[in-house]
Amino acid sequence: MEKVEIVEVSPRDGIQNEPKTLSLKDKRELIELAIRAGAKRIEVGSFVNPKRVPQMAGSEELMASLPRHDGVSYIGLTLNRRGFERALAARVHEVTFVVVASETFNQRNQGTGTFESLRVWNEIAAEAAGKMRAGVTIGAAFGCPFEGEVPLSRLLAVVEAAIDADPCEIGLADTIGVAVPRDIRERVGAVKERYPDIPIRLHLHNTRNMGYANAWAGIEAGVASLDSSLGGVGGCPFAPRATGNIATEDLVYMLERSGVETGIDLDAAIDAARWLEEKLEKQVPGQLMKAGPFPPHNEVLAGE
Ligand code: ZN
Repeated sequence: MEKVEIVEVSPRDGIQNEPKTLSLKDKRELIELAIRAGAKRIEVGSFVNPKRVPQMAGSEELMASLPRHDGVSYIGLTLNRRGFERALAARVHEVTFVVVASETFNQRNQGTGTFESLRVWNEIAAEAAGKMRAGVTIGAAFGCPFEGEVPLSRLLAVVEAAIDADPCEIGLADTIGVAVPRDIRERVGAVKERYPDIPIRLHLHNTRNMGYANAWAGIEAGVASLDSSLGGVGGCPFAPRATGNIATEDLVYMLERSGVETGIDLDAAIDAARWLEEKLEKQVPGQLMKAGPFPPHNEVLAGE
């Protein structure tokens, strides 16, 4: 059976743009629910300026309060050196360093140019070596809200500048949800062709309803990991009109029924998504939590 790893990003990308800020206790509960559903890699928070992303305040406190489970990795997101140092001190299992493919967006997101961020990434990767896993994710890899199209040559130049530092993976993020399956095939394929040994992680937003088709295109193109968030919550505070990630439970339904193993328990993921919906006090985009899995379970049939 084919396999793909799912990285749960609801505690970070999922809630960072929500008007309702989850308490520390609720964040911990969300992470525990994800683990109970089978998540093995979880983006637990970002180490960014809490003045800019208030929902991500207290990542240190959260990390200190999280139980450690064998085989479960907590990922901290970082945009710069200061964030890396905080993540290191908070004892995350791995860091994901974000650099944005387009100059304008990188300037707005991290206050510096793309290649200056990549220089910082190279330093950080050297420091992380032997201490923790460090990977790099390239934001706006399929299009930029400020510059529009991001040429493939530009993306590949960014990948090239990131790869020497030996990242544990390269993430390609469709931050504003503009990609279509052909873009996924083209860009994942181009990175794979040049660097066949490096695992590729795909980060998708469902802004234009292309998220699941893109996830499938990613599977066919050979990605190792897919990011998703319970209930499909999510959005980037610095990308205008950004909307949710693809929903973990909808993704798991598609993959498992197509013969791709995820290690995630669908019912537990649906329960977790419903819990999150209640906590956020609004309807979340996930569809499976409304429609229910198929085939229906025996309990449901017995009630007919
Ligand atoms: Zn995102």
